[in-house]
Amino acid sequence: MAETPKTRLSLETLAISAGYDAAEHQGAAKPPIYMTSTFVYPSAAQAKAVHQAFFDGEVPEKSGKNGFIYARLDHPNLVMAQARIATLDRAEDSALFASGMAAVSTLAQCFLRPGDSVLHSRPIYGGTDMLLHTHMTEMGVHPVGFTDGVDEAHLTQMADAAMARGPLTLIMVESPANPTCAIADIALISRLADRVALAQGRRPIISVDNTFLGPFLQSPLEHGADLCLTSLTKYAGGHSDFMGGSISGPNALVGKLKKLRTLMGNHADPHNCWMLLRSVETMALRTERAVANARTIATFLRDHPKVVRITYLGFLAEGSPERAVYDRQCAASGSTFSFDVEGGEAGAFRFLDRLRLLRFAVSLGGTETLICHPATTTHYAVPEEARAAVHIGPATMRVSVGIETASDLVADLAQALEAV
Ligand SMILES: *Cc1c(COP(=O)(O)O)cnc(C)c1O
Repeated sequence: MAETPKTRLSLETLAISAGYDAAEHQGAAKPPIYMTSTFVYPSAAQAKAVHQAFFDGEVPEKSGKNGFIYARLDHPNLVMAQARIATLDRAEDSALFASGMAAVSTLAQCFLRPGDSVLHSRPIYGGTDMLLHTHMTEMGVHPVGFTDGVDEAHLTQMADAAMARGPLTLIMVESPANPTCAIADIALISRLADRVALAQGRRPIISVDNTFLGPFLQSPLEHGADLCLTSLTKYAGGHSDFMGGSISGPNALVGKLKKLRTLMGNHADPHNCWMLLRSVETMALRTERAVANARTIATFLRDHPKVVRITYLGFLAEGSPERAVYDRQCAASGSTFSFDVEGGEAGAFRFLDRLRLLRFAVSLGGTETLICHPATTTHYAVPEEARAAVHIGPATMRVSVGIETASDLVADLAQALEAV
């Protein structure tokens, strides 16, 4: 896999080492957990210095260099985990949050003001959609969704529609999108942001939600995104036993997010940071296995007569615009995709109720294979029309393929499809 120019070490190697130096922690081979809410100042002068550094700087002082103050502001496990995630995202810095939605909502509150417009991809994570179209709308923000992230004319038209409603200050992209794997061209959107800057005198910030592929398969910052957002709950945590979120990018932007995080109090706590450090060590291995399993399962489903539609990225048609973007932007097809069975909602429900090994649950990215029915679960709150426009139908199911033995998964799918 790609090397990072600074260190010449691979991302896989850095996932195991970055952000932690045993020499700074009494030689402990693995990170201790600092379960403390507050930190004792060595002197009054030091207390003054550390507060000055934290509150007066454009960016909160990094790495607790001058000492820590209080765990909501910063704590040792947060420093370690943020350094590791920043490395994986190829960013200057990263801010960690209590969940993916804590990251999404802090991003929105940080960069959007009443009267602003926000352009976003559609479909987008159900929580993000709801945040923008309920709470942020009530706060006077105008969300405008685009449905084709590779079509320049459509994107331009939607950006114009957004600017007509108010200054376009943020472009929120999710690619591949949840749950359909719709792709957006990050480089194209970056050029669009340049044109928006000429038109309105201010360049919108581009954030890309990289949850579906993760750092080993896609690096949004290298394609022109300003910020890379991830629900760490999914592939980074990787065992469906943890929640977290991150936003990586340049110091100046991440610093603003950290300052707001201090006020919102939605940082990642010491135990969660420790869990994350441990989990990302095996993330590359888990990703590799899940990607291979997903190809087997997607191929089985594509060739099954009762499956009528599948959105697996590996099947994007050669010569299509989406395929060109995928080849440029993604290293592999990931392991979450959606498919439709025959027979509408009734067919889907019969199939779901018959599964024995695959677990019917929301979320994705765990070691175990999970399947859900977006229209009635994750995207329940998205209006039916909006769902239909992006092909989330009554028979659409999303599957997140885990690291079990692929033939066991195929056998379970085969017997459940008999019920359709
Ligand atoms: C799950 C998810 C989120 C939200 O993350 P939480 O950790 O559940 O708060 C955001 N974006 C995407 C693409 C997701 O799948």
